[in-house]
Amino acid sequence: MADRELEKSTRLVEAGRRKQWRRRLVNAPVERASTILFDDVEQLRGTRAALGVYNYGLQGTATQWTLAEALTELEPGAAGTALYSSGLAAITTPLLALLAPGDELLAPDNVYGPTRKFCETILKQFGIPTRYYDPLVGPGIADLIGKNTRAILLESPGSQTMEVQDVPAICTVARERGLVTLLDNTWATPLLFPAVAAGVDVTIVAATKYVGGHADLMLGAATATGAYFDRIQMASWDLGHAVSPDDAWLGSRGLRTMGLRLKQHEQNALEVAQWLNEQPQVGRVLHPALPACPGHECWKRDFKGSSGLFTFELKGERDSFVDALELFGIGYSWGGFESLALPVDPYRTIIQPPAPNLVRLHIGLEDPQDLITDLKAALDQAGRSP
Ligand SMILES: *Cc1c(COP(=O)(O)O)cnc(C)c1O
Repeated sequence: MADRELEKSTRLVEAGRRKQWRRRLVNAPVERASTILFDDVEQLRGTRAALGVYNYGLQGTATQWTLAEALTELEPGAAGTALYSSGLAAITTPLLALLAPGDELLAPDNVYGPTRKFCETILKQFGIPTRYYDPLVGPGIADLIGKNTRAILLESPGSQTMEVQDVPAICTVARERGLVTLLDNTWATPLLFPAVAAGVDVTIVAATKYVGGHADLMLGAATATGAYFDRIQMASWDLGHAVSPDDAWLGSRGLRTMGLRLKQHEQNALEVAQWLNEQPQVGRVLHPALPACPGHECWKRDFKGSSGLFTFELKGERDSFVDALELFGIGYSWGGFESLALPVDPYRTIIQPPAPNLVRLHIGLEDPQDLITDLKAALDQAGRSP
């Protein structure tokens, strides 16, 4: 079944549901285990640590394998998926697995803040420097590659400021120069941007966001091609990474409706973004599907749609605007069924932040007209405050 051409929505239903893992149930059950018992010493000695093989709790059970295999099937051309206890661990562990002292990493200047912090602390401590590049560099990345450059990290669209990268162009250059590419694909997921098909070697999602989809799960996944998957999976086990079966099960449960949810997030977010775009109190609306967003042309060319997260520039007083919202929660993360608002102050060293006074919105599954009414009241109130 995995080899047949299926539409994405069909694949989301079928993926990873091997009969030997779920038996006569629809879903693989929650199998909790540290110890796995062997029939005899010969079987114990003959069993190696691998995905899909009952060995020890660290290597998981059917509950984790079904999710890992489903995520692999969503990225045609990928060899496997390693699961992590957070999206951040799904970024940092492959970097540790693939880089060695003396290597240099190229990372976009708009990279997710905690990823940047990892580069500046742990990676640096192990003798692996990071050089930051303009996310809109495109094929110009070729001029930035030095003799120690070993890997290129991408994130598209970028955290908070939403620049869409020319992923195929950067990956083409990387392959020519023998470099590995890693993409943070959390915003689009494989449904809106099939990354391996675009030339990416390691594609990462914070499954905390749209895979989980309900703001109640921390989970990450790194899906890689055959050249890199085994190294990443082995390094993850060497470092002792394990995902609880309960969390993997929640990930699988969320995944089955991810396509449906993303379509609604897309429709709602576009309606809200287009409305904001017409308000006098609003400056630029940085939504990849709107022309003002840097890299919009790449989004149009490469993506199959947009999700629920975007940023805009507020002309009025920011904190009182966010405080005045009633249907939007104030908090970190996104990708759940509910709407969120967050003032963001991007840290950059190479590029200028596109505008001051940015507010990031995650548009949930509420009725968009209710959200617009709420935003309108908050804009009016913030406009009145001194
Ligand atoms: C949230 C997020 C992460 C990290 O995911 P966690 O599960 O919260 O660790 C990584 N990248 C992006 C773009 C994110 O938004």
